[in-house]
Amino acid sequence: MQQLGQMPDKQGYFGAYGGAYLPPQLTGIMKDIADKYEQIRNEKEFHEELYDLYTHYVGRPSPIFHARRLSQSQGGAQIYLKREDLNHTGAHKINHCLGEALLAKRLGKKKVIAETGAGQHGVALATAAALLGLECDIYMGEVDIEKEHPNVVRMKILGARVVPVSMGTRTLKDAVDACFMAYLEDPDTQLYCIGSVVGPHPFPAMVRDFQSVVGREAREQFLSMTGRLPDNLIACVGGGSNAIGLFSAFLEDTQVGMYGVEPSGLSFKPGEHAATMTMGKPGIIHGFRCYLIQDEKGEPLPVYSVASGLDYPGVGPQHSYLKDIERVHYVTASDKDAIDAFFMLSRVEGIIPALESAHAVAYALRLAPKLTPDRSILINLSGRGDKDIDFVVRKYGKDYGVEV
Ligand SMILES: *Cc1c(COP(=O)(O)O)cnc(C)c1O
Repeated sequence: MQQLGQMPDKQGYFGAYGGAYLPPQLTGIMKDIADKYEQIRNEKEFHEELYDLYTHYVGRPSPIFHARRLSQSQGGAQIYLKREDLNHTGAHKINHCLGEALLAKRLGKKKVIAETGAGQHGVALATAAALLGLECDIYMGEVDIEKEHPNVVRMKILGARVVPVSMGTRTLKDAVDACFMAYLEDPDTQLYCIGSVVGPHPFPAMVRDFQSVVGREAREQFLSMTGRLPDNLIACVGGGSNAIGLFSAFLEDTQVGMYGVEPSGLSFKPGEHAATMTMGKPGIIHGFRCYLIQDEKGEPLPVYSVASGLDYPGVGPQHSYLKDIERVHYVTASDKDAIDAFFMLSRVEGIIPALESAHAVAYALRLAPKLTPDRSILINLSGRGDKDIDFVVRKYGKDYGVEV
């Protein structure tokens, strides 16, 4: 049995999940990245440089807020929010993009590259690249470029090159494929910066380590606010980076309950959800093994969520393992639950959450009334909702009395 705190093993496995399933040309390169990361992860200098940016650039530590009115509205447990929405760029992704960009510099690369779906990872990486003086290419499906205009403009203003992808369905999965191909062509001057705790080893471990600042801060802040640890943690799960960032500091505290919330979208019919761990089976995608929504041949199937940051057919290998050992409960919230929670948090606390984060809030609203008021729930509020407001009012505004 592996110790939770020491995972993954040398080959990047969390139990049966993770690893590095790569074309031969990339095996050596990925091993170099893993070795270099292993070397610098404990270097004082690297750590200080990263934490200096967290403090003075990102604005860390992000506060914890006791959402009293939201708690009262449910008449149960006390709900607290870890405010990752207050970070520079408005979400948790900047935490790992800065780490990856710093690593790129240490490796002597002059360019960082990545794919993006809704553009959130692209914007965060373009930001880190601008700050650290690196070139940045972002691969994006043509359909997404059309849909996510403001983020495309942001990336360009930040000096990144947005590379349109016209293969396949011209969305996220094709952008990943295009980015992999570009990386294969030139793995020497560029570093592929993966946007969550997914992909081949060492990325799931590395992105988790960069996000673990969230959990370490939260543990200390919550203890000093209340004198205790939170009874329950809740976070939304796309690839799983914001969730593992919070969970990682509490894995050994067996009295702390943990819930990862996946999107059940419109229904549990194929193509109408992205509830990977609820509906998927183990398989291989993008160079690693995890729970996967797949057909009989093991090919990933189309997935859907109203929150584009959550619609990925795979999930981080550590989450896959934590599900099997039942340390974390993986649950679901639908589009409708998330939209309800989006308006509820906006109107009761004056905080507009990202649609992704609204899934975590939705599950908290379901859990809180089952608990007594002396119990607590800490939600990772992974991002702010500014990016979603136009879409939400156009599609759902009428139902909530918003006419524009
Ligand atoms: C991208 C994103 C997510 C989903 O990614 P994880 O790796 O699962 O955290 C969640 N919330 C916000 C605000 C995002 O931008």
